[in-house]
Amino acid sequence: MKVVLITGASSGIGYSTAELLAKNGYKVYAGARRVEKMEPLKAFGVIPVYLDVTDEGAAKSVVETIIKTEKRIDVLFNNAGYGSYGPIENVTLDEAQKQLDVNVLSVARMSQLVLPYMRAQNEGRIIVTSSVGGKVTSYLGGWYHVSKFAVEALSNSIRMDVADFGIQVSIIEPSGVLTEWGAIAADHLEESGKDTVYQKVTKQVADYYRQMYKKKSSLVNDPKNIALIVKKAIEAKKPKIRYQDTFPAKMSVLMSRLAPDRFLDKIMKNTVVK
Ligand code: NDP
Repeated sequence: MKVVLITGASSGIGYSTAELLAKNGYKVYAGARRVEKMEPLKAFGVIPVYLDVTDEGAAKSVVETIIKTEKRIDVLFNNAGYGSYGPIENVTLDEAQKQLDVNVLSVARMSQLVLPYMRAQNEGRIIVTSSVGGKVTSYLGGWYHVSKFAVEALSNSIRMDVADFGIQVSIIEPSGVLTEWGAIAADHLEESGKDTVYQKVTKQVADYYRQMYKKKSSLVNDPKNIALIVKKAIEAKKPKIRYQDTFPAKMSVLMSRLAPDRFLDKIMKNTVVK
């Protein structure tokens, strides 16, 4: 039975992935701060654990518990994250640091903790939830994009570092997914603009996201579909390095490579400001 640790499993993509993998015979440890939200996952055999990915001690104790109980760890799904949207001029550097700690350093922290065991096993998979936002920058997406661009580079580095030890790394680049993420990003954005010259646009863009994240659409995917991609990345003999979830996501990544920067700026702004 393959042993999996998922971060950010109390909601959205992490929650759906924990459920799917447990239903398919994996031994799943589901980590998040809101342990109570993971209670229903116990019905599928998931083991919820308290995990604040910014807390070195908590992270270490989770990995030690898994090794003590299971004697191995096959998959780390680095998924915890949130969207700290807002104009760079306004967002405090304390908040920026928090964004980078949760979205970027946690990927390194969790990977450092599991890698010695994966190396000893001579096999293992690390899967990281990045975003299309790790390739293209949306208007007023600020530090979120800094974090996801960094996650892309960090995952590239880990992949190359550990390739000789039988460990494979895959990056998931979803576009919109119907989770708590949308409302959290919109709240950050609106709050960051309050009583400043950015008030009107931040409110406008926050409302655009609130509307967009109300229901599934061609731009907002079901988290269950991301869980299926994660399962595919775990089970493929030769997993892809990058997985995008939808046609618009694939097009965005392609455009980020081919389109001139000023053209991209215009498209990204016009998408969210009507
Ligand atoms: P949700 O807000 O639904 O879930 C986020 C998860 O991250 C929660 O389980 C939350 O758990 C956890 N989390 C946040 N902060 C911490 C922390 N300090 N320690 C541990 N866990 C934490 O959003 P998604 O499921 O959408 O987000 C999952 C990933 O997908 C994120 O990395 C996000 O950036 C990325 N993504 C999302 C997209 C979307 O449109 N939804 C698109 C592209 C990428 P808790 O608060 O209980 O700790």
